[in-house]
Amino acid sequence: AIDFKWIRDNKEAVAANIKNRNSNANLNLVLEIYDKFLNLQKEVERLRAERNVVANKMKGKLEPSERQKLIEEGKNLKDVLVTLEEELLKLTDELQQEAQSVPNMTHPDAPIGGEDSSTVRKLVGKPREFGFSVKDHVQLGKDLDLFDFDAAAEVSGSKFYYLKNEAVLLELGLVNWAVSEVMKRGFIPLMTPEIVRSSLVEKCGFQPRGTNTQVYSIEDSDQCLIGTAEIPVGGIHMGSILPESSLPLKYVAFSHCFRTEAGAAGAATRGLYRVHQFSKVEMFIFCRPEESDAFHGELIQIEEDLFSSLGLHFKTMDMATEDLGAPAYRKFDVEAWMPGLGRYGEISSASNCTDYQSRRLGIRYRPEPSSPPPKKGKGSSAPTQFVHTLNATACAVPRMIVCLLENYQEEDGSVVIPEPLRPFMGGLEVIAPKC
Ligand code: AMP
Repeated sequence: AIDFKWIRDNKEAVAANIKNRNSNANLNLVLEIYDKFLNLQKEVERLRAERNVVANKMKGKLEPSERQKLIEEGKNLKDVLVTLEEELLKLTDELQQEAQSVPNMTHPDAPIGGEDSSTVRKLVGKPREFGFSVKDHVQLGKDLDLFDFDAAAEVSGSKFYYLKNEAVLLELGLVNWAVSEVMKRGFIPLMTPEIVRSSLVEKCGFQPRGTNTQVYSIEDSDQCLIGTAEIPVGGIHMGSILPESSLPLKYVAFSHCFRTEAGAAGAATRGLYRVHQFSKVEMFIFCRPEESDAFHGELIQIEEDLFSSLGLHFKTMDMATEDLGAPAYRKFDVEAWMPGLGRYGEISSASNCTDYQSRRLGIRYRPEPSSPPPKKGKGSSAPTQFVHTLNATACAVPRMIVCLLENYQEEDGSVVIPEPLRPFMGGLEVIAPKC
């Protein structure tokens, strides 16, 4: 239920927002189709009413010639209606399709512009000083026998990997640690389907088709591999009216993520940094609209607490409009220092999607009356409202492995495991070079 009327009534603000976000949405076309849709809808309703009048007349006493005339009139109306109703369905599809590219509105405090306009919200720690020359994670992995990129390239293609030895413990430990930490904060744990319907992907604001799609589609089906658990978690309450007392609903989901990384040529692609398949622990909240800003703050705080507890040096960014994608109203990314890479690299992203996804997914709640309903036996008559949705990374495993290996390397070639992870890795304290 995209609010086209609102879009039409706020055309200038929507157009300015499209421009700020450097989106390719065609607002004029959307409104043109919406106008056509409204006109056709009116015409269909008029003809339906006319058909009812004819049907009612037929119930009365009639001369045979009059009855014959009405039968013909009814038949003609039916034929026209069938055609127009089909057209209306087509136009509805076209409208939804075109509106897909119209981005969410933007938080008034989000910086306007491209990547360079993003601002630093918080800086935590400082880069570790090494008294020796540092290796990057690819070299560390090679020396410690943690990955096999060559075999993966043979088996699957480039940007795939095998994890080996302690890297397996590190992945499993990170997942377990992140899920446990977030569960402690009252989130419900989930493991999700990793193949979903393309329509769900679209409703969450991702483009499952097209040359630049990030989504792997399954041939001869209407299904895709998920790029993030945000999609199946968003879908878990699709088409529901949630009781207000159940909100906020907070989930922490583990899933694998699959991304084509189309258009990523030239970006940092060495080793584990940008791969086609990876594990991720994702947080997701369904809440009342007035609470989403506060929950956005809570999500970024959880991320900051998690990364601080691992002793990482990072900065939290308030992302500029051109980097928000379609669904986010505001987005905070965390970029951690990666000494081998010699720069900050994104390790997480927290977005407030307001009602962008819930409108498309049909997820509402019914506000409970603050005082008892006036008439006995009658439930609350308050109209339903769309919930707000938020998502945030708790742990994107490969980036975290890059970060930990590069930040915790020692001169003898070993890597120290940060203390909070040790209980989740059978007590392992150090990844030492094999003899
Ligand atoms: P996103 O869902 O795009 O906000 O990504 C969430 C997090 O996943 C990012 O902050 C990265 O840490 C990580 N990530 C995204 N894409 C990849 C990839 N292709 N390979 C490895 N990690 C990724």
